[in-house]
Amino acid sequence: MNKQLTEIDHVRPNCGVIGVWGRPEASTLAYLGLYALQHRGQESAGIVSSDGSKLYHHARMGLVADVFRSREILDRLPGSMAIGHNRYSTTGKSTPDNVQPLLVEDRTGPIAISHNGNLVNYTPLRKFLEEEGSLFQTSSDSELILQLLARSHGKTLSDRLVEALKMVRGAYSLVLLTARQMIVLRDPHGFRPLCLGKFNGGTVVASESCALDLLEAEYVRDIEPGEILVIDESGLNSIKFASSSHKAHCIFEFVYFSRPDSRVFGDNVDKTRRKLGHSLARAHPALDADYIISVPDSSNTAALGFAHESGKPFEIALIRNHYVGRTFIEPEQPMRDFGVKIKFNPVVGVLKGKRVVVVEDSIVRGTTLKKLVRLVRKAGVREVHVRVSSPPIRNPCFYGMNFPTRSELMAAWHSVEEIREFIEADSLEYLTPEELLAAVPHQDCQGYCTACFTGNYPVPIDDEDGPVRFDW
Ligand code: 5GP
Ligand code: MG
Repeated sequence: MNKQLTEIDHVRPNCGVIGVWGRPEASTLAYLGLYALQHRGQESAGIVSSDGSKLYHHARMGLVADVFRSREILDRLPGSMAIGHNRYSTTGKSTPDNVQPLLVEDRTGPIAISHNGNLVNYTPLRKFLEEEGSLFQTSSDSELILQLLARSHGKTLSDRLVEALKMVRGAYSLVLLTARQMIVLRDPHGFRPLCLGKFNGGTVVASESCALDLLEAEYVRDIEPGEILVIDESGLNSIKFASSSHKAHCIFEFVYFSRPDSRVFGDNVDKTRRKLGHSLARAHPALDADYIISVPDSSNTAALGFAHESGKPFEIALIRNHYVGRTFIEPEQPMRDFGVKIKFNPVVGVLKGKRVVVVEDSIVRGTTLKKLVRLVRKAGVREVHVRVSSPPIRNPCFYGMNFPTRSELMAAWHSVEEIREFIEADSLEYLTPEELLAAVPHQDCQGYCTACFTGNYPVPIDDEDGPVRFDW
């Protein structure tokens, strides 16, 4: 295995992006959109608006409601166009350079950018640009796109953007704003979702359709992979700037990341996630179980699907405290498994003496399940059978999913039986990659990125020494 690959530190985690065009209260609508997309990023939030001549910026570390905590803040973002961004939290390192939208001064005027995804040739590109004399203010790959844009020639901004994008590879769903234009685009593989909606004469783009629902906008379609959409006074102008023979939609958006009430990659997340539960129950049943339970909230839908298929009751046996923030004061006396206890409390009356199936959507480090199994055992369950609605995660993600390095991925180093022993479950079964692929939508010949499960990286990752070969 290439050691460097597990240690690349500029990987940008998954995010939420929004763009609103042609509504007088654009920044308030962008704020509401970000609110609906909060699950895609809790570390920072920001909005840039335009009144047709100037751009206005407010972006900070924190949740959407904290960053935009008063009407006055939104009032300082006037105009009928706005873009926004939520950034996902990573463990430890949180620096202000992570805050988006980024706002820079181009020779044609100000430009703001919101980016969801991660570029895989960041390191060689940055080195190249630095050698050419570029100065960088952040370690962000979104700034790199702006640097390339600044250097490229072309009649229009979208021409220059297309020129710049020829240099970058990887995952990018982008929303850019200038004083009079909004530009929206998706990388040719379509790693990350991005959809288009309309409302009351206005246009909206968002990472997920749940943001459109809150704004009472009508879903029109997804932005196509390799499509660039320019929105200005003359209307919407779409160009295909690049095409790829295969798509690489992130399958983990269906497994975990997107909200179940959203439509991504042209299909409903809820429907797909239930199908994952059906498949899991068919392929890996737990015949003697009394109840099916979920790990709220992320596995609720898959657990319902499992229960439905197996004909066994779904029970709510873990109560989640929704107010767990990132920091809380730990008790001075060490309490075992405090982290998971503050988040989940078991309902003893449901669990005592029962054989339960815990349906979980994914195992990353294995810590959640280890603690949870212990917790439900203390509540008196007779047997705990764990069923996971995705395959073992054996490989890091370089396209924006917030996984730890390979060294921390439980399934990269341990067999399923070893993981079962570690989490102390009576049985443990996962969906296989084939079962997962069979359960996700396949209309329009959709292609998926399954790299975290299979190690098949659809776009090779470059490090300083050039393209990296994947030989694990
Ligand atoms: P583990 O404890 O095994 O490291 O993490 C597994 C749990 O984290 C599962 O409950 C799953 O729903 C959740 N999860 C999966 N992917 C992510 C992610 O990218 N970020 C966060 N915060 N949680 C995740
Ligand atoms: Mg979870």
